[in-house]
Formats: sequence, C-alpha cells, structure tokens
Amino acid sequence: MELRTGIGYDIHRLVEGRRLVLGGVEIPYIMGLLGHSDGDALLHAVSDAILGALSAGDIGEHFPDSDPQFHGVDSARLLEKVRSIMEERGFSINNLDTIIYAEQPKFLPFKKQIQGSLSHILGIGPERVSVKAKTNEGLGEIGAGEAIACHAVVTLTK
Ligand code: MG
Repeated sequence: MELRTGIGYDIHRLVEGRRLVLGGVEIPYIMGLLGHSDGDALLHAVSDAILGALSAGDIGEHFPDSDPQFHGVDSARLLEKVRSIMEERGFSINNLDTIIYAEQPKFLPFKKQIQGSLSHILGIGPERVSVKAKTNEGLGEIGAGEAIACHAVVTLTK
C-alpha cells in the first residue's frame, strides 16, 4: 500500500456585499470572502492538500485566476476536478483534517453541515472528515475579523 500526506492553506479577505461560502456551505453573515471564485478558502485548502499529496502542483496552476472561466466559479467544481485527478492516479482519501480560523462568525453551529458537504463532494464517509474551528484570539487580520483562513491535511492511499 502507498500512503501520501498533503497540506493545504488558504486565506481570503472578508468584505461586505459578498456571500459567505465555506466548505461548500452558505453561512449567514453580514460579509463574505473576496475572491476571483466564490472565495471558499476551506475548499481551496482541501484542494491544495490533495494536490500536494499527489505532488501535482497547486490550485493556482490548475485554475489560474487570470482565466475568466473561473470567475465566480463554485469551488466545489474545482474540488471535484481535483478529486478526479486523484482518482485517475489510483488514490483515495483515507482521512481529511481541517481547521477554520475565524473571529466571526462562529462556525460551531455549522461544523456538522460543513463536514457533510466535504464528505459529499469527496465521496467519502463523514467519519473520515474532521472540521475544527477556532478564533485567532483577537490577533492580526483574522482576529480583527478582516479575513478567514483555513488549513487542511489529507492522507491518501493506493
Ligand atoms: Mg483561495
């Protein structure tokens, strides 16, 4: 059996006039994440973790933000594409662990829904998907409520 581990990170600025979508779930909030796509930092971090485990580059290479076809794109479509790259290479996900760093809104009420969404997009059981959320203790841009960041670590098997 072959084992691969990958790590992904992303941060997006919170601005007014945008929907807040994280992990493929729309979260009710007064601001949303700025980005060329829907700004879903969690799905971007997960996509990069899988690509990293495959040594297959990063989402910036696969889905360049200079390309108009990715303008406003649902990041779940990008992650589905990454999943197909993984499956073409014969790998499957053993488990995924994630962290959301956000001062506001509070993600505790949405963790189960985000876990279900990740599990659905990736085609794996929810018991293989972990979603953790924490504040940044008021520090820096995240602590000031100006941004949300996410980390993801994934283990693949073949
Ligand atoms: Mg991003």
